[in-house]
Order: sequence, then C-alpha cells, then structure tokens
Amino acid sequence: MFDNPILKKMMDQYGHIDDLDKLQAAMREDGFGEFVDLLNNNPELINSFIDEHREDVEQSIRHYTGSGTIPIQEPIYGQPLSNDDTFRFDPQLCLTDCNGKCCKGRNYLMILYPDIFKILTSPAARHLKIHSTQDLLERRPPIIDLFLNEEYDLYLPYLRFLPIGADSNTPPEEAADSICPFLYPISDVFSFHKLQLPQNARKDAMGCMLMDCKPSICRLSPVGQARGMVTGRLSYEYIEPAKNCPGCAADVEIPLPQYVNALLSSSDEEERALFHKMLMAHNTRRQEGYDQKRFKSVLLESYNIDRLLSINDYAPKQRPNYGQLLKILIAAAQGDVSLYDKFIQSMNKSNHKTMKINRNDREYTSYIEQAVVMAYQKLSDLTDRIVANALKELISQKEDRIYRVDYFGAKEEMMHRELLVQINSVGLESKCPKRILVNALKQVLGSVKGFIKQGTADDAYLKFIVDNFK
Ligand code: SF4
Ligand code: SF4
Repeated sequence: MFDNPILKKMMDQYGHIDDLDKLQAAMREDGFGEFVDLLNNNPELINSFIDEHREDVEQSIRHYTGSGTIPIQEPIYGQPLSNDDTFRFDPQLCLTDCNGKCCKGRNYLMILYPDIFKILTSPAARHLKIHSTQDLLERRPPIIDLFLNEEYDLYLPYLRFLPIGADSNTPPEEAADSICPFLYPISDVFSFHKLQLPQNARKDAMGCMLMDCKPSICRLSPVGQARGMVTGRLSYEYIEPAKNCPGCAADVEIPLPQYVNALLSSSDEEERALFHKMLMAHNTRRQEGYDQKRFKSVLLESYNIDRLLSINDYAPKQRPNYGQLLKILIAAAQGDVSLYDKFIQSMNKSNHKTMKINRNDREYTSYIEQAVVMAYQKLSDLTDRIVANALKELISQKEDRIYRVDYFGAKEEMMHRELLVQINSVGLESKCPKRILVNALKQVLGSVKGFIKQGTADDAYLKFIVDNFK
C-alpha cells in the first residue's frame, strides 16, 4: 500500500494506534522522541504528508489489524509430555466441574493459519455474523489479531481475548477477566448445535461456540502445546495439563498418543505440515541472509485474503482454498513470488474485463488508458508511480481539491506534466460529465495502485496496458 519506506515502517509498527497522544507516547518509548519533536515543531510538514497519503493512511487505519510485536510469549505451564506418557482427564468434568477456565484469563492465544479457515467454515460463523476474513480481522476489537512473533520473524494470528462488552479501544493487556470471543454460556452452545444439555451440567458452565471447528490447540486442551525453532527445525512438544484444570481430577488415565490421534485428523496434520513447511523455508532464507520483506508482506496480505478479493470485486466464496494459498506462500517463502503475482494479475485482468461492461466506463477508462499508452510511447522512463500521481492530480482538480506532488527532479516533473497534457488532450473535459470522468479516473488509478502494490516492476501497469491495447 505504501511506496514510502518510512511511512510503511511506521504503519507496520503503529498502524493500530489512531490516537495522536498515544502514538506520540509509543514512538517516544521506542526512542523516536526527536522525530516526534520535529513533527510537533513543523505542523505543516505532517499536514502535507497526511494530505498526500490521506487515502493510504485512512485505509490502513481501517484495515490494518497488526498490533506490533506480541507483548507476551505463550506461557508454558507444565512439563513436556513424551509419547509414553499418560495423564488424567475426563471431558465430562468440563461441564460439571468447570466454567471454561482454559478459555479465560489470558490476553492472546496463538492459532495457526488453517484455523482461520476452520472458523470461517464452521456452522457457528454465520450465527456469529462472521462471513469473511475481514469480519475476523477488521472488527473493533478484532476477533483475530496479527502480531509480529519475533522468534519466527513473521506476523502470526492470535485469538484476542477481552472482557464481555469491552470497549474496543481497551488494549487486552489492560483488560482484566478476559475471555475468548467464542466462549459462550453452555446452554447457548448446546442449543445452537441442537444438542441435549446433560442434566448435571453446572449452571454457569461455558463452552466453545465453534465446537468441532475450534482451533487445533484448543481441541487438545487441557494438553498444551509448545512451539519453537530448535536447531533450524520447528519443534512441537505436548505439555502436561495445567494443574488447575478441574477435568484432571479424574480417575481415567489416558495415553498421550491415543488422545492426540483421536483429536487431530490426518488432514489437520497435513495442514499443519504445510504451514510449517512455509515457516521453515522462511527461516532457512533468513539464515542465508535474505531480508524476506516481500514474503512477509505477501503473508500479511494473505491472512486477510477476503480483503484482497473484495478490492478486486470478488466475493469470499471465490477465495482460493487453504492448500492453494499455501502453495503460493511456500513458493514466496522460498523467494519465488511469481505465483502470488500471477494470482493478483489474474484478478486484475478479470477486473479489467468487468470494468468494460459499463458503456460509460468502457469509453472513458479506455480514453484515459490510451492517453497513458501514448505518453509511455514518448516517455520511455515513465513509471507507474508518476501515472498514479498524475491521475491523483486530475481527480483532485475535478473535485476542487489541491494535490501537491513532490518529485525527484525536473525529469519526473516534466513526465508528469506531459502526462496531464496527454490525458486532457483526448477532450475528456468537453465530452464527459464530471462524475463519470472522475469515476473513470479513479478506476484507472485503482488498477495502477494494484500493480504498484505488487511491487514487481516500476512500470508493470504500463506494460500491462500496452499489451492490452495491442
Ligand atoms: S476457540 Fe473455543 S476452545 Fe479455543 S479458547 Fe476460544 S472458546 Fe476456548
Ligand atoms: S479442559 Fe479443564 S480447564 Fe478446560 S474446560 Fe475442561 S475442565 Fe475446564
């Protein structure tokens, strides 16, 4: 979204904070006090910066859900279990002697990417008005938050726990009595799933609305799971149940392999293996000295896959499945983003076709694109960024707003001016109603931005439309 590396970095770090005082406090805490002072002493600097990037900033604040670095590590309550170990547990006691203890009293719970798909396709999702990844990631407060996990050097998904009815601005760290957003009174859970509630269930028992579609780490509860990278391999350890789990005051002794096999299917294992293959590919490349920035942004965008689809006019039901996405992500983790680029381009191409359905749009977007192609034929150094800026300036003029463009030198400015002349010379102003013209300019700008966002080449959009007009 951002072509300015400083702004991009700032949004990665502070994109979730939309209060200026809190933002300044967080930046000072991170050692950027002098920068904050500089901005405070030059209000016109920040105003012009915000004006220039208003659209990006507003979109980012609305849609970005990552909240910086995860402030806590997953707590490890007990000793690792080995394959020969047994433990005591009776799930009946969850209903009779507990009220959802393991789904409360923490702020975040790390889940896996396939868990997001499980939640979306669960029978409870529609009941809870969860129809897309946007509903999971973009609500205030979000149901799932993405945090930078420093060990993996990646954004990973976490369920975000909060007290019932918590203010959307309350950071979970400050929220006492946090519970999982899927924890409900057991009567509601059983009634939704059309199950008979056992008579001996506690009145205040709580249960998971997701039932069989809960994240794999939850299905294993009260057995815990510790994940970490050891000597370049992703390690998985099962951890003995927490001592305070009432279900463990049981006479029944369960062997660990039997318990795990009953709860995790082979497809769970396969999905987990794919995700781990991606993590390990990323880790290997990191150790080889690659910065992996592109892969990290591809992963971040893929978590909110339905947003990517929606900006290209696709519905969530058209989302690629988990296996298809992981194929793209594993290749990206290995340094090959061509599959991802193809995926985005295929959406852009289809968009391009749908864009031509409306007669007015077809006419005027086509005029604008032809003008851009003509300018590109004259100015071989033209870039997508200059095209985007020219379109933004034209839109601003039509909407009676001022748009200031800062260029790196006279040559870029000359190309910008030439482009404005070229687009205006097709006689748009005289022939086209303003509203339709602005819409057409915005449609073309949307396409250009799509290509800039992919970051494949400085003139990827220009090449694309030249091909299109052949
Ligand atoms: S998803 Fe379900 S099982 Fe997991 S913490 Fe939330 S309520 Fe508990
Ligand atoms: S697993 Fe233990 S803590 Fe969790 S609901 Fe059952 S009894 Fe309670």
